[in-house]
Amino acid sequence: NATTFDQMLNSLDGQKYGAYKRIKGRYQFENYQLSVDHIQVDPYAPPSKMRIIMDRKTAGIPHKWLDTQDKRIAVADFLTRTFEKAIQAISKKTKSEINRMIFIDHCGQEILQRTSVVINDNELEVRFEVGLPAAGRKIKGRTASYLFKKILPEIVEQSLLYQNLDQEVLKKQLTLMLDQSFIRAELAKRNLVAFVANGSILPRQSGVSDKPLKKAIPFESPANFEIQFTLPSGRTVTGMGLPAGITLIVGGGFHGKSTLLQALERGVYHHIPEDGRELVVTRPDAAKIRAEDGRNIEKVNISSFINHLPGGKDTRTFSTEDASGSTSQAANVMEALEAKSSLLLIDEDTSATNFMIRDGRMQKLIAPDKEPITPFTNKIRPLYETLGVSTILIVGGSGDYFDVADQVLMMDEYRLKDVTEAAKTIANSEGYRREKVSSEQFGDLPARIPLKKSFDKSGKEGRLKVKGKNTILYGREPIDISGLEQLVDNSQTNCIAEMIGFLQKQIIDEKVTLLQAVDKLYAYIEKKGIDAISPYSGHPGNLALPRKQELCAAINRYRGLKVKNETMD
Ligand code: ADP
Ligand code: MG
Repeated sequence: NATTFDQMLNSLDGQKYGAYKRIKGRYQFENYQLSVDHIQVDPYAPPSKMRIIMDRKTAGIPHKWLDTQDKRIAVADFLTRTFEKAIQAISKKTKSEINRMIFIDHCGQEILQRTSVVINDNELEVRFEVGLPAAGRKIKGRTASYLFKKILPEIVEQSLLYQNLDQEVLKKQLTLMLDQSFIRAELAKRNLVAFVANGSILPRQSGVSDKPLKKAIPFESPANFEIQFTLPSGRTVTGMGLPAGITLIVGGGFHGKSTLLQALERGVYHHIPEDGRELVVTRPDAAKIRAEDGRNIEKVNISSFINHLPGGKDTRTFSTEDASGSTSQAANVMEALEAKSSLLLIDEDTSATNFMIRDGRMQKLIAPDKEPITPFTNKIRPLYETLGVSTILIVGGSGDYFDVADQVLMMDEYRLKDVTEAAKTIANSEGYRREKVSSEQFGDLPARIPLKKSFDKSGKEGRLKVKGKNTILYGREPIDISGLEQLVDNSQTNCIAEMIGFLQKQIIDEKVTLLQAVDKLYAYIEKKGIDAISPYSGHPGNLALPRKQELCAAINRYRGLKVKNETMD
């Protein structure tokens, strides 16, 4: 129990650091159990992993706030944040560096399903880390004793006992998240792809801060796109409902176009109160599509966009270790479709021009059979009409999309206006007409089956390690996922690494397609929790659930990936 644990820590004082491993185990404290799962090997290694396990009765959070998965995620997120705040507060109060010794996963503006706090039917578990104190390489047992006897119980008391929580704020976060879920479900029913509430604050403080910009101009919907929801919380919200189909966003440079699109990209996630984007809600499968030259492509059918490459390279199973802007963007579209996205988000700022447009003059100069690329202008309608996939795109530098757009919205000094009619009039006036080369069909979709040999790595080569948000090391092979703009959290990257490990061990069998394998994995997690894919018992590491889209995208960027095509090989 707690007393023996404390005696042990005191008796370790002055011993070699390695002796800390003796404290592994489970100890009963007054309000909770402490489980010491993993001990760091030396003071400079990643901190030791521990859990607090508390009865739900002791914590006292009302049952009605924990009776669905959504609610548990909202509450767990809240508790993770309060735990971190309590660490900071006690650090300040005691004028010590507690915040450099005790850690919990850090939550950003999004609310994600995480392993930091897990709530099951009877218990609540907090997974945190402790840098066990040392002087040089000797154990500071007395400091450790103080940490576990005085500090940790206070953190727990402040951040996990319902009576001490800011109940109003918790309730607000919970009801807000349920409102967001409601809108997201409602989008599909009303044939909408996105909703942006009036009054939303879209711009962020800076390129490195995801907090809302102060003194921003709040979002206002163009009148004819305004819709209303009566939310589960009882409040009514008004804002822009973007219908399925093709939405073109135009406007001068620096008028706020990319800011709007970025808010929509993030709208696939729940946001915390006061974020400014908490009522910006997008279809959950929306995929940002960009050019990403240099990426690896493994046997993707990009023939809808690119054909007759010089040298007669087959674009139905297109592979390259160094994609160009246009081929990478084509592959990104095809892979998003393979992962079943129903909404594509495209910004001219990050697109390959020759993929997006080819104007009338260029069509006259270059004969169609000399140009391998069918620009996106010609595929965007078949994409919607035959596959039901909508697109929201920003093109400020060309009118080529006027013909094919269902609605054209203009950003004018951060204010959105409907200019559909004016754009259509221009598109139909003789002087501006461009040659029509529209093809009726979209083309074939990829259905690729990952081969076992892609993941057949043994020993050190099979180990997965994460370097920041944007790189996963698979053995010595780095997987660069910096192009995944909708990946928002380091812990999602950690989770993707564990997922690849799990797929390799349990799921890849040369019968299932990439998406089927990923679906299987998510079904498994749905049933058993994220913990179940971690190779560790106890503290599973800091993991946050990514979307299927980002997992597929990460696998697609792995240079060792080998696939066969369901139909063509
Ligand atoms: P565009 O894509 O049209 O060139 P951006 O979206 O990049 O423009 O926005 C340009 C600048 O304006 C950015 O610094 C952004 O933070 C700021 N901004 C965007 N929307 C707003 C707003 N509603 N209120 C105040 N500033 C904004
Ligand atoms: Mg822009």
